[in-house]
Amino acid sequence: MTAETRIEAFDIVISGAGIGALTLANYLAPLGFRILILDRRPGFDPVYRGELVQPLGLSILEELSLLDELLACPHTLYRSFDFLDERGRLLMRSSYERGEAPFPYALAIEPHQMDQILAKNLSSFPHVVLRHESDFTGYTVDRGGAIATYERGGETRQVLARVIIGDDGRHSRIRELSKLTGTVAPYQDSYLGASLLLPEDASRLPEPVRDTAGRYFIGPRSIFFFFSVSERRRFFLLLLPDRNQETFFAGGIDKVLAMLDRQVPGFADLARLNGVDSPETLVELPVWKVDLDQWCTDGVILIGDAAHAMNPHVAQGRNQAMEDARVLAPILSKALLSGSLVLRDSMVEYEKKRLPVTRALHRLADEMTLVWNTGNPFIVKVREATFRGIGRIPALERKIVTTISGMKVTPLTSLDKLRALGTGLISRS
Ligand SMILES: Cc1cc2nc3c(=O)[nH]c(=O)nc-3n(C[C@H](O)[C@H](O)[C@H](O)COP(=O)(O)OP(=O)(O)OC[C@H]3O[C@@H](n4cnc5c(N)ncnc54)[C@H](O)[C@@H]3O)c2cc1C
Repeated sequence: MTAETRIEAFDIVISGAGIGALTLANYLAPLGFRILILDRRPGFDPVYRGELVQPLGLSILEELSLLDELLACPHTLYRSFDFLDERGRLLMRSSYERGEAPFPYALAIEPHQMDQILAKNLSSFPHVVLRHESDFTGYTVDRGGAIATYERGGETRQVLARVIIGDDGRHSRIRELSKLTGTVAPYQDSYLGASLLLPEDASRLPEPVRDTAGRYFIGPRSIFFFFSVSERRRFFLLLLPDRNQETFFAGGIDKVLAMLDRQVPGFADLARLNGVDSPETLVELPVWKVDLDQWCTDGVILIGDAAHAMNPHVAQGRNQAMEDARVLAPILSKALLSGSLVLRDSMVEYEKKRLPVTRALHRLADEMTLVWNTGNPFIVKVREATFRGIGRIPALERKIVTTISGMKVTPLTSLDKLRALGTGLISRS
């Protein structure tokens, strides 16, 4: 074999440069492991979306000494979020300072900015290679190691690895090839979203659109989440019932914008100013559930959405992918020191630590989906009273905020919910 045809060898090959991959590589790079990250995207370009980095994600960035860099990027810091009914009446204010987290706030950011920070830090390690426009297509595994195959620039390439990691998202090719079983299905409803930029001089716009407050308007079969990712950039999500745009836009886009304008006065003008004038100008964001029985086989490990895509009601997907990386890093580095191919047996600890957490979040997200996405007027009344009750019982608010912060899953018990409902019903009368 000549030098030109020699196959490249790495300790770890990761398919997908998602947040889980980037976090994992940041934990392992200082230990000297040779890492190849492949991603089919051309780079970390803006996707014009906003996401919440919860206290869990912030604590991981702090551990990696990257939090200050994130805080230097455009972002909005949220100490609380407001939950309102469809008419804009406050049901509950959920404040991070009431929870049990190291940071009493979350950050809303455009995700590519965070990805760029993590990728930039990796560029100082010559043994870590990040290759864009590289489509992972397959792998083989035997006791000697794994061979990963990918396409780049019209060429098929192969690379040797001691473990292959799938951070290739909810439609993971690696998951499909490894035949790991479980639930992989879309939710009934999806979201529509868009990013809006305020004009440089926004002083003439109504105060509610200039306000950076995070607001969830939850009505019968309707959700409108409006928040900011910088002083000027706003982002919103709209529930798309049954993923049916025809029905949703039956009265035209103007009717939809008028409805949202009643909740956030000035919204319709801002949307039109940003070219939102037809259904096609909104992006549909489907929501998937991935809940597997196992995340690892010999030579293959899944992280992030590939292992556990979850409903955004818990605002956790990105944060849980980072937590996968934090938990996996020491377990994997130990396994890499002790042999050639990384076997499933040495990864059981990773699964044992992580799978119950994401499963509990799935249970919670499913319950929230049932209650938040409903159009049933009785459930809507119960939901609203329960929200009001939670807002009046600090112990229950603490449970909710602690779960959302990502630090610990502490869902409400049946008794908690009854207490909240009772308090909410009384407080209204
Ligand atoms: C509407 C909505 C709102 C959300 N809000 C939040 C939020 O506020 N907070 C939060 O924490 N999470 C949120 N999430 C979830 C979050 O977006 C995901 O959980 C997170 O991005 C998952 O990261 P990942 O690294 O697992 O996968 P991804 O971000 O999907 O990354 C996968 C990567 O793999 C690459 N890839 C795929 N296949 C291949 C292949 N064959 N070869 C090479 N590369 C490949 C893709 O190009 C991509 O870069 C939200 C999700 C939705 C839908």
